[in-house]
Amino acid sequence: MSNPSRKLADYVPILTEKREKKFREVLSKRQPDLTVVMENVHDPHNIFAIMRSCDAIGIMEIYIINTQGMKKKGAGNKSSSSANKWVKAHNFSSVEACVLALRAKNYKIIATHLASDSKSLYETDLTEPVALVFGNEKDGVSEAFLPHVDGNMKIPMVGQIQSLNVSVACAVSLYEAYRQRLQAGHYENTKLTPEQTEEIYTAWAKKS
Ligand code: SAM
Repeated sequence: MSNPSRKLADYVPILTEKREKKFREVLSKRQPDLTVVMENVHDPHNIFAIMRSCDAIGIMEIYIINTQGMKKKGAGNKSSSSANKWVKAHNFSSVEACVLALRAKNYKIIATHLASDSKSLYETDLTEPVALVFGNEKDGVSEAFLPHVDGNMKIPMVGQIQSLNVSVACAVSLYEAYRQRLQAGHYENTKLTPEQTEEIYTAWAKKS
């Protein structure tokens, strides 16, 4: 007999053994101390490509700033991407609100930005809790954001063109973070508490 006091939403769907194993393996590699901030990234293709790269290396949540009134064609639209099922997006309409949220989680904030004091990606420690900020396709990381950062990081380039596409820059940066973290053993043991694992597992099971 079912318990009448339980709501339909309380039930966790039963998954196949294979799917459950996959979910648990993915959760055991999640990196709650690494995140990405997209500041006024316009093109939904770029947003989705960035979310896919985040999922691929175990990022759980990202921060999206929209101070330019862009329509939510991107991460808000569940039907047009699958990565946004597995990576949670926090949306902000001001730089300050986003910075406050990042500081509350003790992230060091690094802008991917070509400045005279920018450190190479390969000389930046990406094993510590860090939020990597990526800027708008045309204007880069804004003057409003830069005073809040703890440092700038650049991807070395030796060609004629000065910058990479934002989603490419993100993938390159995240795979350097992955390399450093793999070497430092960050993917060996889960970083989530049992409660966090169950909470996300349940949410994913309900979505799948
Ligand atoms: N004209 C813009 C500028 O001056 O920043 C170029 C923006 S670029 C097309 C879009 C974003 O990709 C940048 O804000 C940055 O986040 C990232 N990016 C592209 N190339 C980069 C590089 N070589 N080093 C670090 N970040 C880079």
